[in-house]
Amino acid sequence: MRFVFTSDDVGGARGRAPIEWFEAVVDWLDGRGIPGTFFWIPRPGGRPSDEDANWLNPILRAKAGGHDFQLHGLTHHCLEFGLPHESIRRHAPKSFEEYEANREKYEKEHSLDEQRRKFGEAAAIYRRAFGESPLIFRAPCLGIGVTAYRAMYESGIRYSSSRSINPAATGYMITRKPELEPWQPDYDGRPFEEPPGVTEIPCLEDLVIGGFEADEYDLALNLFQREISNTIESLGDAAFGVFASHYNRIGKQIDLIPRLYGELFDWMAAEHGITEWTTFKGELA
Ligand SMILES: [Zn+2]
Repeated sequence: MRFVFTSDDVGGARGRAPIEWFEAVVDWLDGRGIPGTFFWIPRPGGRPSDEDANWLNPILRAKAGGHDFQLHGLTHHCLEFGLPHESIRRHAPKSFEEYEANREKYEKEHSLDEQRRKFGEAAAIYRRAFGESPLIFRAPCLGIGVTAYRAMYESGIRYSSSRSINPAATGYMITRKPELEPWQPDYDGRPFEEPPGVTEIPCLEDLVIGGFEADEYDLALNLFQREISNTIESLGDAAFGVFASHYNRIGKQIDLIPRLYGELFDWMAAEHGITEWTTFKGELA
């Protein structure tokens, strides 16, 4: 079995530091011979990302070096395309509460016409930046729904990785609520079809999205190992699994997270024979 390394939110934050974090992540991946799939935000804060040379130049260099860039929302508002799956409410209730307090606004936002408009704009910015069409979409905060899948399909995107296999594990890392500790997956990780014909490929969610302390290293490593063993088992004969991360979190903890991932990936090779890392473009194009 192969694995796809994904990292979200590239192109979103302003300033020099996020770009340096991105470059550090690319250097680290290059050092391990792992090509990444980066999910890229096309219009953060109202600014089309194809016009932002500070970001786009290092991105295009990384792309020329074999890394893959795909679509991550339009503006990256958490409720832009739909709601996160219900089990995420246990550790991240805010977006659900926001939706429920402004239901009329979000029902309009999630109308098919609005979804079509957003996918049209996002894909157009992507094409201007990269000279090709996006292959796969990841919804901001994993918020997605029926109208988003339909509009995505109509815009020509046939793949999504907008669901998490076991959100409880991330919830446990963030809240330490004991009831979130046991393995309780929402999905088995295998691709499935969403009408009218989008293949949804769930991911092994970023357990360290909220960061962690050096003395929590073993806890994070053990939980990652459990998630990966269980996911590989439930994937069965599937061609590949999907590992999710956030480039900015790696960059902020550059002394800790590459060490953690490095030990984890060495263990994946030794324990499960996972030595081949690929990109979504490599798998789906
Ligand atoms: Zn994101």
